Amino acid sequence: MSVTHAPQTTDVLTRQDPELAEILLGELHRQSSTLQLIAAENFCSPAVLAALGSPLANKYAEGYPGARHHGGCEIVDVAERLAVDRAKSLFGAEHANVQSHSGSSAVLAAYAALLRPGDTVLALGLPYGGHLTHGSPANFSGRWFDFVPYGVDAETGLIDHDQVRALARTHRPKAIVCGSIAYPRHIDYAFFREVADEVGAYLIADAAHPIGLVAGGAAPSPVPYADIVCATTHKVLRGPRGGMILCGAELAERVDRAVFPFTQGGAQMHTIAAKAVAFGEAATPAFTAYAHQVVANARVLAATLADEGLVVTTGGTDTHLVTADPAPLGVDGRTARGRLAAAGMVLDCCALPHADTRGLRLGTAAVTTQGMAEKEMMRVAALLAGVVRGEVESVRAREEVRDLVGGFPPYPA
Ligand SMILES: *Cc1c(COP(=O)(O)O)cnc(C)c1O
Repeated sequence: MSVTHAPQTTDVLTRQDPELAEILLGELHRQSSTLQLIAAENFCSPAVLAALGSPLANKYAEGYPGARHHGGCEIVDVAERLAVDRAKSLFGAEHANVQSHSGSSAVLAAYAALLRPGDTVLALGLPYGGHLTHGSPANFSGRWFDFVPYGVDAETGLIDHDQVRALARTHRPKAIVCGSIAYPRHIDYAFFREVADEVGAYLIADAAHPIGLVAGGAAPSPVPYADIVCATTHKVLRGPRGGMILCGAELAERVDRAVFPFTQGGAQMHTIAAKAVAFGEAATPAFTAYAHQVVANARVLAATLADEGLVVTTGGTDTHLVTADPAPLGVDGRTARGRLAAAGMVLDCCALPHADTRGLRLGTAAVTTQGMAEKEMMRVAALLAGVVRGEVESVRAREEVRDLVGGFPPYPA
């Protein structure tokens, strides 16, 4: 049996289902011919893709290694144990659950492990970078729990610690959530632990974004501070699309039961195998260098965007994330994103703290995997600003993007 990476896997599809093969190749072309600046995206390795496309996808495996509801799990059990052991060792955690299908299902399981419907939870408000699972009325979290939002300081853009402490004292939440989809700075986990202890709350760190930086030693770890750490495996961590939960031994059983059978069914063994591959990759010196380069790139991107006149939230970044208001260039985030999309620069809009208009959210995880460094980030920022200002026509910008990414193929042949 041979395992192949994505572009070659399509050979089988080309023969059997050319219609779908064309779609797959079209997406591969899109990913490699445009600039991927979505902060939550990355290019996982051919080895990760091989595990994802493996026959482990056929296996039903409800339960946990050694205690499954299905027969024939003896080999996938080894795969899951390997993934769990690698995650524990990578993050220095006593327990790891690698079955969560996504970041959102990891958060759902964390709440299920610690809370009852109607409990009060303190979390970063959505206008300040909280995730949907942090109390959005459109999400189970906002429907089933009583969320009290904290925010960021209007001047500095930094999490308002005084407000967090005051709200915790007033509302006595059952849990405090720290973590964000857009906050570009390190989170002070020791501070959140202190407040949680003061009011008798659990601390849940939703580290979906920075967990890859944590793995590479480029960001502080929430593991020593939080009761439960929720994460994704597909963002900076560069693994397959999925979730993960880390916790201490005392909560291990509650967390496992909250994932299966409470919120999920059968484990996705191909994805778990791919997570094991990604954890293995993340434990290498090459990944440590990658994680630090991701941050170095984001710092240069932020600084150059600021030089170009955009207002960078918090004045810079500690992570892979940059959020910026393009208003000084004459357009809002939505218009800017449209112009950039036409130029082949793919990124998101985001809420801007204490503003009515939307800003831009960018990340350097994907471009850094491609091999881009500080010099390329300056080029990206200058081009971005030119496009947003309307100075560089989209046809010309597209050519420049193609020229730039042409030197950094995500999946070299
Ligand atoms: C990405 C993210 C999630 C959700 O991950 P999905 O895999 O999309 O469900 C949850 N919380 C935070 C903070 C995130 O950044």
